[in-house]
Amino acid sequence: MMTYREKIESRLHAAQVNGGAAAATPRDAGLYTVTGRAGDRYSVRVFGLEEMRCDCKAGQYGNPCWHAAAAFLRTIADRTNSTNERATLR
Ligand SMILES: [Zn+2]
Repeated sequence: MMTYREKIESRLHAAQVNGGAAAATPRDAGLYTVTGRAGDRYSVRVFGLEEMRCDCKAGQYGNPCWHAAAAFLRTIADRTNSTNERATLR
């Protein structure tokens, strides 16, 4: 059985295709707005790299979507920028 983290990582390519970390805009602590190609917007709540929740249809059923994966990438990018500590990524 895949962990949530593994499921999210399996969606990273889709997130990259859709803009990657830049597709996720920080709105509040742990809260990101992800804009899809069609201009549709979703809210992703990040509880940590092991748990995040998107309000799109897939996300509501607990399925990792590329929106959550984009928020995952953005979270890592922001952490890297603020701490410059790559060891925290793993
Ligand atoms: Zn989603």
